[in-house]
Amino acid sequence: MPLLKAMRHKILLLLTLLAMSPVLLAQTQDFDRWFTGGTLRLDCLREGSAQGDTVWVEHWIDRQCDWHGSRTQLLDPFNNGDNRVVVRDAATGRELYSRGYSSLFREYKDTPEGRTVTRRFEETLLLPMPKGKVMIALQRRDQAMRLVDQTVVEYVPRQTRLETRSPRNIEGKEYEFLDHGKDVDFSLYGDSYNKFDMAFVMQGFDTMDDMAYKQVCNRMKQLLFDKEPFRSFKTDFNIYFVKGDAGVEYNAFGIDRYAMTFKVWQLHDVLGQVPCDHIIIVLNNKKYGGGAIYNFYSVSSLHSMAEMVLTHELGHGIGGLADEYVDEELSYADLHRTKYEPLEPNITNLVDFDSKWRRMLKKGTPVPTPENAKVPRTENGPLGVYEGAGYSSKGVYRPVMHCMMRDYAPFCPVCRERIEAVIGLYTE
Ligand SMILES: [Zn+2]
Repeated sequence: MPLLKAMRHKILLLLTLLAMSPVLLAQTQDFDRWFTGGTLRLDCLREGSAQGDTVWVEHWIDRQCDWHGSRTQLLDPFNNGDNRVVVRDAATGRELYSRGYSSLFREYKDTPEGRTVTRRFEETLLLPMPKGKVMIALQRRDQAMRLVDQTVVEYVPRQTRLETRSPRNIEGKEYEFLDHGKDVDFSLYGDSYNKFDMAFVMQGFDTMDDMAYKQVCNRMKQLLFDKEPFRSFKTDFNIYFVKGDAGVEYNAFGIDRYAMTFKVWQLHDVLGQVPCDHIIIVLNNKKYGGGAIYNFYSVSSLHSMAEMVLTHELGHGIGGLADEYVDEELSYADLHRTKYEPLEPNITNLVDFDSKWRRMLKKGTPVPTPENAKVPRTENGPLGVYEGAGYSSKGVYRPVMHCMMRDYAPFCPVCRERIEAVIGLYTE
């Protein structure tokens, strides 16, 4: 970063430290004890099928930029995502940093091809750069949904060889920031480590003229903050726009509307050093489509339904929420009809409902709750436990009659609570 900016950061940090509570101060000092303030990027490969998989680090990369994540919320409080990365102090085994995430591989292994055919998938993990020797565990779920170490790699400062990437020259194309602030009001840019950094990667906009491009960017910002709970938190966000080819194509896994990228490393090359607590890839295409994976990335097109699609996908991408709708035709319709409680906070198969939204139910609410056909599609209706969710018509339950994760109604209280908690994880 430019020297002046670095100095400004130091001064701001000093001022912030003076104003912090003792607990926060201790946590920040903890961060400084274990991490340099830089960013380590791990480009990993996961290879396998439903029969099993292996994962390894293919490229160790110094992102050559400040750590954009939180400096106080270092451990992931949620038991969500198919995978988790855990950074441990090599000497004591103490957990220093962890984050849950999912990847395209989980969906692949539930497809007909994925049951037998081995394929490779790219994953990129961004971590605070460790100061000392650490062990980095790539975890996955075992049969009982518990997180277990799958691959453990050692990182030793100055010994582990780190590659760099040119941030300004991706396939010969310069990328640009669209500096928000001049023409919109929700532009309170703050330090990336206590803002939720939303990085929009704009695919297919290279030949669009500047005026039109700016309009698209403004529309995306409006879409993001159009719905609650995002609207109430808009000053907690930093927004970045980067033009580039993220490799997204429609028809992922043979589903026409499912637009995803398998070129995750390329996506991160396009991002370069841009802070990204979450990534939204925007396609310059009016065709309906999109997709999202928890703590991985989300995709939206410019379809007229984009505002609904984007908000719904962010429920997956940011909140780690499940679909609350029923679609028995899907090959993975019985995904949650198991003897283990699903990980997602907004559905339950009643195996361990106490871990879900029982505490939020009004006293006397029957479990399960009978459907109420009178609730209009624009309202949630009363909180309950309604059968039919997570693609299954039987045995899986949702909190309300209508929700963004079911039929584009407003987010229900259970979904909202989780999204707000996740935003807090990056802004506190
Ligand atoms: Zn919901």
